Amino acid sequence: MSGELREWLAEARRAVVFTGAGISTESGIPDFRSPGGLWTKMSPIDFDDFLRSEDMRREAWRRKFEIDKTIVSAEPNKGHMAVAKLVDTGKVSHVITQNIDNLHQNSGIPAEKIIELHGNGTYAKCLDCGLRHELAWVKMNFEASGEAPTCRECGGIVKSATISFGQAMPEAEMRRAEEATLACDLFVAIGSSLKVFPAAGFPIIAKRNGARLVILNREPTELDRIADLVIHDEIGPTLGAVAMLN
Ligand code: NAD
Ligand code: ZN
Repeated sequence: MSGELREWLAEARRAVVFTGAGISTESGIPDFRSPGGLWTKMSPIDFDDFLRSEDMRREAWRRKFEIDKTIVSAEPNKGHMAVAKLVDTGKVSHVITQNIDNLHQNSGIPAEKIIELHGNGTYAKCLDCGLRHELAWVKMNFEASGEAPTCRECGGIVKSATISFGQAMPEAEMRRAEEATLACDLFVAIGSSLKVFPAAGFPIIAKRNGARLVILNREPTELDRIADLVIHDEIGPTLGAVAMLN
């Protein structure tokens, strides 16, 4: 099956890789929906609740720093490296990711080829003026004062630079993702349950536009029935074979 994916990549003029939490589990970051995962114990806080109360913001930051303990040391795995190689050879035009862990960047893929649909959890941003704040600064102040951070410049609310449930999708990224999707003739969805919309809409758009759709995921996904090829297997070994990594 990975042989077929390799052939289709060779035939493709321009491919897009779309990734979800599953590509990062081999780096030690738990995914969202597998049973017993970190996130079932510490559910994310909705955007409206975050805005509504100081208490919620403090709680959100407490959970964020708790979860970060398992995430900070994570490094790109074989799956990330295989994707980086496919980008490097020019076959893959863009990596559209739902992940917030920065591991595609850390694998060496140039930032302009990565489209982050759900933001990035390795820094924070002011919700009013957009100014970037480093987590180390936030953490230091949070630990010293016990208060959720406000913007150094404008006093606005500072939030991890991720897109929470209930928060608007980033417009520029959505547009870039759509352009990349419409321009590809092969779309490979990796490590996503394909349950979260609008992100999961991109494989559907690709397929409707005439691209081949490949899904690589350990478990069945919502979109297996429309895919041209479904590979139910582990990501690292499968992609490692496809990209011929040693
Ligand atoms: P998901 O948890 O819904 O689905 C992940 C899928 O990957 C599952 O179906 C699982 O069976 C599969 N999987 C896990 N490890 C695998 C492996 N080694 N090989 C093959 N398959 C494997 O994830 P999602 O669809 O990305 O949606 C979750 C949302 O939560 C995303 O929007 C994302 O923003 C966020 N999230 C991000 C991270 C991260 O940045 N690493 C981690 C957890 C959640
Ligand atoms: Zn600000």
